[in-house]
Amino acid sequence: MTLHRLYGRVILRMDIEAVTGLHIGGAGADLEIGGVDKTVIRDPLTNQPYIPGSSLRGKMRSQMEKLLGLPQNRRIGRVYIHTCETEAAFQENGGCPVCTVFGVPAELPFANPTRLVVRDVRLTSESARRLLEGAFTDRLYTESKVEVAIDRVTSQANPRTMERVPAGAVFGPAEMVFNIHQMPQDLDRLDIVLQALQAVEDDYLGGSGSRGYGKVRFRNIHITARRAADYTQVHKVAEYGDLAQWATDFDAFRQKVAQLMVPNGG
Ligand SMILES: [Zn+2]
Repeated sequence: MTLHRLYGRVILRMDIEAVTGLHIGGAGADLEIGGVDKTVIRDPLTNQPYIPGSSLRGKMRSQMEKLLGLPQNRRIGRVYIHTCETEAAFQENGGCPVCTVFGVPAELPFANPTRLVVRDVRLTSESARRLLEGAFTDRLYTESKVEVAIDRVTSQANPRTMERVPAGAVFGPAEMVFNIHQMPQDLDRLDIVLQALQAVEDDYLGGSGSRGYGKVRFRNIHITARRAADYTQVHKVAEYGDLAQWATDFDAFRQKVAQLMVPNGG
């Protein structure tokens, strides 16, 4: 079976609003820097906090694994994820939705072109300016907040300082690219992306979600497409204010993408 033909790409752009403070830790985040125990990841060029595409994509994946009840059977670093271990398992029921959309590790004995690419997301320039000028940030673009963790054994209170991007910050546009390799099956898999985003909104991004951190909202969703038949052309597909609006219009949206992706231009 040839899976690798590319019919086209659906390109999603949206803003991500931090509804509550957002803490996405960086490498070396546990080192004490300037009195903060847990620092946020920053772009080394601009020194601005950002949302790594891998964090967002990983959260989307784990939410879908849970919603679909897939076993989280493979350890990647500190977390377990689901992957199909054999091609037979992957192909079952027309293809595993999670492994198809989010990919399988390279060492597995079968290949699958990953459908979804999620890029790193910067602060909007407006939001970066407001955070720089805002009196509520005590660090560059961020605030620090003391959290008290209770040691379960000794009952001792251990205060630690968390750095976080303040509530109200807006990142964007977040860009996600969905590759259409199989028609019409990949049209249905676009719904996986929408469901995953909805689930992330209801859960959280980054750390300390159980303390209320990391609630995000996706909005100003602009969807375009490029197709193999005229790749240099950008085709406008749809615009939605939020995920609920996209969900309401999903059948029409799917139809529009289907018409665009017909082989040879249609
Ligand atoms: Zn799978």
